[in-house]
Amino acid sequence: MRIAIIGAGFAGLAAGKVLTQFGHDVTIYEKAPDVGGVWSRTRRYPGLSTQNDKGTYHLSDLPMPKSYPEWPSGEQVQQYLESYAATFRLQDKLRLGTEVVAADLDESGEEPRWTVRSKDGAGVEHTDEVDYVVVANGIFSQPNIPAYEGASEFAAAGGRLCAPSDVHDLTEVAGKDVLVVGYGKSSCDIAAAISGSARSTMVVARQLIWKMPKKIQGVLNFKYLMLTRMGEALFEYQRLEGMEKFMHGKGKGVRNGMLGSLQSVATKQLKLEKNGLVPAGDFERIARSTVSLTTDGFFEKVDAGQLKVMRDAQIERLGVEDGRTVAHLSNGATVPVDVVIAGTGWQQGVPFLSKDVQDRITDERGNFELYRFILPHEVPGLAFCGYNSSFFSPLSAEVAALWIANHLMGESHLPPVEERRRQVAERLRWMEQRTEGHHARGTNLIPFSMHNVDEVLEEIGITMPASVRRREWLMPVRPSDYRQITTKLLERRDRRQREKVGR
Ligand SMILES: Cc1cc2nc3c(=O)[nH]c(=O)nc-3n(C[C@H](O)[C@H](O)[C@H](O)COP(=O)(O)OP(=O)(O)OC[C@H]3O[C@@H](n4cnc5c(N)ncnc54)[C@H](O)[C@@H]3O)c2cc1C
Repeated sequence: MRIAIIGAGFAGLAAGKVLTQFGHDVTIYEKAPDVGGVWSRTRRYPGLSTQNDKGTYHLSDLPMPKSYPEWPSGEQVQQYLESYAATFRLQDKLRLGTEVVAADLDESGEEPRWTVRSKDGAGVEHTDEVDYVVVANGIFSQPNIPAYEGASEFAAAGGRLCAPSDVHDLTEVAGKDVLVVGYGKSSCDIAAAISGSARSTMVVARQLIWKMPKKIQGVLNFKYLMLTRMGEALFEYQRLEGMEKFMHGKGKGVRNGMLGSLQSVATKQLKLEKNGLVPAGDFERIARSTVSLTTDGFFEKVDAGQLKVMRDAQIERLGVEDGRTVAHLSNGATVPVDVVIAGTGWQQGVPFLSKDVQDRITDERGNFELYRFILPHEVPGLAFCGYNSSFFSPLSAEVAALWIANHLMGESHLPPVEERRRQVAERLRWMEQRTEGHHARGTNLIPFSMHNVDEVLEEIGITMPASVRRREWLMPVRPSDYRQITTKLLERRDRRQREKVGR
């Protein structure tokens, strides 16, 4: 098949590699001038590094280099993805600096056809006809900057309002008063990184969240707690089986005790009480939508008074007072500010698909209705990769790519569409409820990463060895254990081809 893949982050590159291995003719469109997505040089902000350790954050058949630190920098992850593209000879399939502006579906013939229109860096339009489209445009790709009242007056007077990913160099904030909005990873990363260069740095957070120290009591790497099947089992999944049934039933006391201990340790280690930063609610809420880790130096800088956090507040409007750009906050304060960095989340959208197709892939609340977070119900020739964002996003994207390859071989045995609809609707309702709506339109399944991997692999008909699954209960998941899935699936394909020839 001729396949267009939109996006060259982890998901697009994994899909490109897998679908090429399965004999498809692939083109990967990427609007940035380099591969990497979140880690592209166009989107890296000062202080950006991974949350995962390097051992859990890579694609199955290429580990990160030994020379990388435990938590690689944004630049190192981008270089890793460059080397992935080179290792699997994807370069001639890549169209960098090329944005897909429209992908139009023609369903009039026997087989669906797509017309993909793209625009390169020189503004030249290209049109390609393909059989299949894989959307891998990332769920954390398009920053969501609030439309603050007074923003144009603020900008006209020289104020700057931007996203963390728009700030690439400390010189952009040197000597300036900076207000960082939000308390998620990007906000805390950038606040800590710029606080030595900016004249003042203040974080304004509508709601504080619990953060997990990277090293608990400075010793135990969080990966042994959170990036294991046991860590995942601390949180209540949609259906409970085996050990999880126990942990959320008779063993609930033990499980609550573990979370309670983590809360006490985090409170003490990060000096949350002393600095007035204890979040509302208990530690369990850490996994409400995405588990945020502490940023190196953030709490130390708060404690040292180099960084201020204004909690339970938000920007009401921006403006100019006495010739000075300012932000008016909901708690009545007015603060002088030159740069507002809004770490206020993301927009998950597919603007290149027609309105009709967009309506067919989303429910009335705007959630993506994707079976296994991959397949729309009734749009032919279309799949999504990377819409199962997890604790192990590269691995999750790769298993989604394998699911697509298997599906295109005609090997998937899907339930009837009505049953798929029912399952997806039920899951979306559950996700919406447990995350209080913070489920990224149904594309962020944290903390239930391995449940999703298991479900996708089960449907492909491949089971991981029991020894691997046992190990993962107490030890961090190793994506490299999963490289055998591709081999097994390729063997299946070869077997089927031999059977066909035999017939
Ligand atoms: C700051 C930050 C830190 C993170 N840290 C971690 C971590 O430690 N661990 C973890 O598991 N996850 C982490 N994540 C989540 C992260 O999203 C995934 O790990 C992963 O990088 C997502 O890859 P992706 O390919 O799905 O999406 P992206 O990396 O977002 O790639 C999508 C690509 O599609 C391109 N694109 C979009 N629209 C078009 C178009 N119309 N035409 C052409 N190209 C297009 C974009 O330019 C982009 O390059 C982090 C996210 C952020 C924002």
